[in-house]
Amino acid sequence: MRVRFAPSPTGALHIGGARTALYNWFVARGSGGTLVLRIEDTDRERSTPENVEQILDALRWLELDYDEGPISQVERSSRHAEVLQQLLDQDLAYRTTATAEDVKAYKAQHGADKGFRGRPEAEGAVRLRVPEDEELVVHDLIRGDTTFRTVHLDDPVIARADGTALYNFAVAIDDHDARITHVIRGEDHLSNTPKQLLVYRALGVDPPAFAHLPLLHGPDGKKLSKRHGAASVQELRAEGYLPAAIRNYLALLGWGDADDETIITTDELVKRFDITRVSKNPARFDVQKLRWLNGRYLRELSLDELTAALEEHTGRTGLRSVVEISCEKIQTLADFWPLAGFFFDGPTTTDAKAREQWLGDDGRAALGDARGALAALPEDGFTVEEIDVALRAVVQAREAKPKQVFQPVRVALAGTTVSPGIFETLAVLGRDESLRRIDAALGG
Ligand code: GLU
Repeated sequence: MRVRFAPSPTGALHIGGARTALYNWFVARGSGGTLVLRIEDTDRERSTPENVEQILDALRWLELDYDEGPISQVERSSRHAEVLQQLLDQDLAYRTTATAEDVKAYKAQHGADKGFRGRPEAEGAVRLRVPEDEELVVHDLIRGDTTFRTVHLDDPVIARADGTALYNFAVAIDDHDARITHVIRGEDHLSNTPKQLLVYRALGVDPPAFAHLPLLHGPDGKKLSKRHGAASVQELRAEGYLPAAIRNYLALLGWGDADDETIITTDELVKRFDITRVSKNPARFDVQKLRWLNGRYLRELSLDELTAALEEHTGRTGLRSVVEISCEKIQTLADFWPLAGFFFDGPTTTDAKAREQWLGDDGRAALGDARGALAALPEDGFTVEEIDVALRAVVQAREAKPKQVFQPVRVALAGTTVSPGIFETLAVLGRDESLRRIDAALGG
């Protein structure tokens, strides 16, 4: 199988584009086939080198490699012109002769958008001759066969007056020249397919098979947008998702079963992935599920690996002992600092509500007792086990609920009620620093 990923470098690679890339990659790797990368850079304003680099960078980060390319569509323009000339010579395409005046008159008479075979187009544009009445069949591996009757089709414009190819013409030539056997792309390209089939027909070659991937929806069933927390690959990276988790999640999306919560390694996915089994219903992108899955992947890392990833992510060092007690509570790398930054930066969070709730008269009295119990522990006995015993004794003596003692301590240490386990937090901060923070809270 020869497949291709053909992004338009108009900005970052979004989650939908990443899914398309991944499914092509699965097909290539699973079949021992070839993945071609083609950069559809004909929009010269938006196809900047930076945008191209963003796409390449996103693919690299997702660990999706390709076998041929990147091929620049623009650099193939002389080939497009050559094929255009061939079709003109064979009278399979023709130049429209209408003048601008004709176009205006036609539009005034028929309305601007009414399709009509041979409708005048700006002078010199090239149209492909559509056969009178034939049936064209799109073989779609996901959606089955769809038949188009050419009688309903307009003669498509395939090149501008200056000879530059229009999109659907260029794509068909490029896919044909690259000997693509399967075109796997988003459903938004479905309407392009008949035009591309007409080009294959004019070239006298068999079209590839197609697989149009269903649209991505948010959990509310609406077309996916930023509002759903859907993001570019770069943003997902900044938010601390792991490439393996994203690959796993995007693969599950294709199964179309939102409740399938399965960890499947990439190797296994490559073996199991079957494009013909991708659901044709819209897939629901659910960032909560991605977070959950990512958390599972984070917990598969060794402490050293996770520490290294977090140190890179935060740009800080010396995180290991804190990572050890926080790792159960984070789902992305970005969750770490809000949860554990107080170890390093102090209780800087201004969580006024937490202070009000837990450091009132009762809370301060409990905190005072806790301080006494903690201060009674020797420096080298300041362990999770000893702290546990000491604080539970305070709870008992005060005839309080555990949280009536633990939460004031937590707020004193962290500035908020969110932190790793309280005994672990105390042990990692150490006796001196813990007492210093408690004193500051009692004094404040
Ligand atoms: N360049 C198109 C896009 O980024 C893809 C075209 C195709 O796959 O045929 O949406």
